[in-house]
Parts: sequence; C-alpha cells; structure tokens
Amino acid sequence: MNADETIMPAPPQDPVTEPWWQATRERRLLLQHCASCERVQYPPRSVCTACVATELGWQEAAGIGEIDAWTVVRRSPGPGFDPPYVLARVRLAEGPVLLTTLPGSGPYRCGQPVALTWRPLSDGRRLPVFAPLE
Ligand SMILES: [Zn+2]
Repeated sequence: MNADETIMPAPPQDPVTEPWWQATRERRLLLQHCASCERVQYPPRSVCTACVATELGWQEAAGIGEIDAWTVVRRSPGPGFDPPYVLARVRLAEGPVLLTTLPGSGPYRCGQPVALTWRPLSDGRRLPVFAPLE
C-alpha cells in the first residue's frame, strides 16, 4: 500500500479551523480573507498575520498552484504514513503556501503546475493533496 491509499488518523480541529475542515467534506479548499487589509492567508488562524484584525472571512481556492519545494520522505513520522512519499510546499494561485503531498516519488521540479485533489480521512474529512497538471 502506498501513501495515497493509506487512511490517515484524523487531525484535531478547533473552533478556528472547524469551518475549514467542514468544507473539506465537500472537497472545497477554503482560505481566510481579511476584511481589513485584503490579505488571503492559510492555514486558518484567529487573527490576520498581516494586520492582526480578527474579522476574517472565507473564500474558496481555485485549486491550482505550483510546486515551491519538495522532498522524498523515506522514514515514517508515525502511524498512517507509508514512506516513501513526496512532501511538498505548493504555492496556490491566491498566494498562500500549503504543506502537502504529491503522488509517487518524483522527480518534480519547482515551479511545476499542480492541481488540487483530495485524500480521505477516517472520519469523512479530507486532506488537500496535489497532482501535476501536465
Ligand atoms: Zn489583515
């Protein structure tokens, strides 16, 4: 079984991240939008990291981006991880960077276009993962 088929343990959620997690059940990737300074941020936080405003809304990401950095993980960090797998930073078209995975074991190149797919968790939520567009 490879990492793409492994059912991972479900990460915890809290009042700040709960709307984000609920959207993953519908395969929607949400980003926070600051009403005060217009910054778009990820991951979800209780304040804007640019201006510390607390009035944050949600917007749906287009689901496309490019590889910012990637590496092959060869040792399991814990249950539910089945190396080797590719850990990557993906810069979304909206600007924020996600830590995610890519299929297989590469090679990939920085700047390579990728598109959002989803990986199921044991409780119905999903993790955003990406695959090459080309
Ligand atoms: Zn702000």
